[in-house]
Amino acid sequence: MKKYKVIIDSKKCIGCGNCSMVADKYIKINQQSGLVDVSGFIEKNGRLVGEISEQQLDDFERAARVCTELVIKIIK
Ligand code: SF4
Repeated sequence: MKKYKVIIDSKKCIGCGNCSMVADKYIKINQQSGLVDVSGFIEKNGRLVGEISEQQLDDFERAARVCTELVIKIIK
């Protein structure tokens, strides 16, 4: 099954919560930091990096579209 890489520049995240509103199954706002968080993603140089499946793609694309800071990148 095809996988897509996702990179979220969490340093530039302002914690607006738009992403978690449209993709709450996968994307949350971390209660401590107040910033974007995705379970299973790892933090690398101030970025959240992970892989998603075809099934998750729609939700992540929606989140990327509504992100006010445009920090969610999906690599296809
Ligand atoms: S929509 Fe963008 S800026 Fe807003 S919380 Fe999500 S990642 Fe951060």
